[in-house]
Amino acid sequence: MLKNLLKNKLLITFIALIAIAIILPMPLLFPATSNDAEAALASSEEFRNSALWLFDNTFVPVVVLAILLELFSLALRRRATIIKRTTTKKKATLILAMIVLSTCATFAFPISTAQNQAQQTPLAKIVIIVILDGTRADVFWGTSHWITSHRDEGAWARRFICTYPTVTYPNIVSIVTGTWPQIHGCELSPRYVKERNYLILRDYRTPRAEDIFEVADNYGILTVTVMASYSIGSLIGDSNTTHLDGGDARSNMEKAIRFINEHKSEIEARGLLMCIHLIDSDEYLHDFSSDSKEYKSAIAMEANLVGMLINNITAKGWANDSVVIVTADHGGIGNAHFNRYPPLVDEVPFWVWGGPVLPGAVINGGRLIDIAPTVAFILGIRKPKESTGVVLYKLFKPDVLENLKGISSVESLVLEEYSNSLRGAYVDTVLYLCGFMVVMFLLSFTVRGAIIGMRIIRRLSRYASPTPHRKYRYKYGGVK
Ligand SMILES: [Zn+2]
Repeated sequence: MLKNLLKNKLLITFIALIAIAIILPMPLLFPATSNDAEAALASSEEFRNSALWLFDNTFVPVVVLAILLELFSLALRRRATIIKRTTTKKKATLILAMIVLSTCATFAFPISTAQNQAQQTPLAKIVIIVILDGTRADVFWGTSHWITSHRDEGAWARRFICTYPTVTYPNIVSIVTGTWPQIHGCELSPRYVKERNYLILRDYRTPRAEDIFEVADNYGILTVTVMASYSIGSLIGDSNTTHLDGGDARSNMEKAIRFINEHKSEIEARGLLMCIHLIDSDEYLHDFSSDSKEYKSAIAMEANLVGMLINNITAKGWANDSVVIVTADHGGIGNAHFNRYPPLVDEVPFWVWGGPVLPGAVINGGRLIDIAPTVAFILGIRKPKESTGVVLYKLFKPDVLENLKGISSVESLVLEEYSNSLRGAYVDTVLYLCGFMVVMFLLSFTVRGAIIGMRIIRRLSRYASPTPHRKYRYKYGGVK
């Protein structure tokens, strides 16, 4: 009787928690205005990151703990010679259900687009993405440098969120593919493979999704990567992509500018998609921490290098035909960012400058996965096949949108397109939260089993000699 009630209580709690997991992220699905929709992009991404983080960090430890508790309660029951095979079976089913849930861990539905449509009128022919590795949004905007003093010559985002896990490779691949690591497959940086311990579901893999550099090359656009390491540069683009990878921030920016100078007429004829990766900020984060003046000055130095790039573009008379996007792959707290609670490290700066960009525009929110679709929109090419992000329309001048793309009502377009993407994030969030609830349910289930086992031992020991009773009380009394 009491056992049944307890069982029901657990089940009721479980059902209530699942209901909470479904209802909690729901308000993000129904934005009323385009401003709300932009804010929902950022919030839903942070929600999704946190759900993944909760699931990842409880899955293996709880399963191990549950197995140990189960062994313990089996031992107790064996001692009392009451082993109920039925409950064991139920638990096995539960464990199986959880493993099934966790292994089909890619939940979002990739949106496939048609193969190469004809190139549409581009908003600009040159797009350069600059990634300041490991740069927190608050430190970036709170430090004076070239970008903060030229902020309103471009547009920027109030909140811009990276993906999970909060390390370089998954996020850089998310920038170029426009989708989450759980879809493009590259879920870890090689350097963290040894450190991941129990995070068995995340691993370094070669991305399996198409990226915007491959698409741009299909349209005849010149594609160039200037990444801090060859191993990450090689993941981007195709055999026609020029790789100038390997180097610190200053040498990479100088290499990029040298390439632009040396290929001026080719760029003018074909257009350019370039990615420049500046690593010093991340190194200073790890060496000196996110509060240090060294970290701040590394970020300022890199932002000043962006100023150098923009001055070079302007001097060539390309300002009207170029867009420079500045962001980061992830933030950091203290000396680290890997597997930190996502809301502490997932907010990155986002600033955009160039001809079609509305000076002083501020969008409420966005995500790294929105960069690739936005770049496709600027260049007038299709977005990468697996892309789940959206075009950040409100970065651009309304007259440019109307004249070049025939977009007269940004408001309704944003509401319509963003809700699709928000639904994908919602499904992921709910499923990972439910996965987390199942893990916690498994834990309480096995704890309950152990408690019942101990009660049986205690009851039996009243009729037996007192020695084993004391022994068990002493040894296992703390487990509750
Ligand atoms: Zn790092």
